[in-house]
Amino acid sequence: MRDLDFDRRHLWHPYSSMREPGPVHEVAAAAGVWLELADGTRMIDAMSSWWAAAHGHRHPRLVEAMQAQLARLPHVMFGGLTHGPAVGLARRLVAMLPAGLDRVFYSDSGSVAVEVALKMAVQAQLGLGHSGRVAFASARGGYYGDTWKAMSLCDPETGMHRHFGAALQVQHFVPRPPVAFGAEWPEDPAQNGLGAVEALFAKQADQIAGFIVEPLVQGAGGMWFYHPRWLAGVRELCDRHGVLLIFDEIATGFGRTGTLFAMQRAGVVPDILCLGKALTGGMMSFAATVASGRVAEAIADGPAPVLMHGPTFMGNPLACAVACASLDLLADGAWQAQVAGIEAGLRRGLAPARALPGVRDVRVLGAIGVIDLQEPVDMGRVHGFCLRSGVWLRPFGRLLYCMPPFVATPEEVARIGAAMVEIAGWR
Ligand SMILES: *Cc1c(COP(=O)(O)O)cnc(C)c1O
Repeated sequence: MRDLDFDRRHLWHPYSSMREPGPVHEVAAAAGVWLELADGTRMIDAMSSWWAAAHGHRHPRLVEAMQAQLARLPHVMFGGLTHGPAVGLARRLVAMLPAGLDRVFYSDSGSVAVEVALKMAVQAQLGLGHSGRVAFASARGGYYGDTWKAMSLCDPETGMHRHFGAALQVQHFVPRPPVAFGAEWPEDPAQNGLGAVEALFAKQADQIAGFIVEPLVQGAGGMWFYHPRWLAGVRELCDRHGVLLIFDEIATGFGRTGTLFAMQRAGVVPDILCLGKALTGGMMSFAATVASGRVAEAIADGPAPVLMHGPTFMGNPLACAVACASLDLLADGAWQAQVAGIEAGLRRGLAPARALPGVRDVRVLGAIGVIDLQEPVDMGRVHGFCLRSGVWLRPFGRLLYCMPPFVATPEEVARIGAAMVEIAGWR
């Protein structure tokens, strides 16, 4: 049986049906921005393989770091043992993060990093003497992953809530941050969205352990860019009501939005931070949850003085080694000009879409470009078009978006923009 036929019959792909699976292309190799298919066709990976391959595919320094680690110590358990790559990565993270965020927990994927953050919050509240604080709050339009607790905090409409019903715990939601990035900030709490957060906390903060949000850019839940002042307001309200603030920078971290971390534009530091995706430069699944000393101390004061989590592949040396190499690439600083260049290129390239009848909005921030459409995109049609245009895009509902690898050239960015505008113009 041909690979593609076997795949159709036996393999689930993300959010897919085994009865009517969508079409898939077979990728044979990848280098830089390029995906090379089994039949030799090439496509630009405009998605950075879901935010991950920030330096492009198969970057020689990342490959080299992983190969060197592979020859020495591919894996060892992390209970009672440690190793250079784990320590080296924590050193780098602590040095690059805002002061105060310096207690690092490694896990295998973004969703798990979120689960760990939520556990940390509940255990820290226990340690602080608040055993009733076991629920969570978030803004609508969020996406935090596919595991149960993370899923319960995703947007109740675009997320998976309606399919799981009572199986999901009920959490608290405020409206998505209403003021767009770059718009004028209204001081009136009824208009800037903070009134809703304050009202929720005033009524129910004694049940809420933490408030989780993706700073600045809501990703898979709606590709929405919002005003950083909202984050400063939420930080203040969390402090006033004893709610721990959790930032999910799994998509936005490591330069994607134009600053190393999105939270820097707001000048706000959370109590707990989740990192993933581009952490390894997209080479391996890996994530980290970083807490403040205050959170770590509160957990240690609790009835279970240890943090109750410990994945089998925690601190995997291959992942840590390649993450160190990826952060060293970022430390060179070239990403800043690259992301600024992509931002300018996407602004230019996507501008013609504004005039198209089916387009609601066009947004660009850092190396992220979004065309917000009136109607959902025809995914099957896009899939075929990607082959012809040589640009790999994977829209989601009404949202046609890209986040190219930082190494994309101006010509490649222009090509991505042109492909997106063409799709947006389909009738
Ligand atoms: C992708 C993503 C996750 C989940 O990460 P996985 O590695 O897919 O489990 C969580 N939060 C955000 C913001 C993401 O973009």
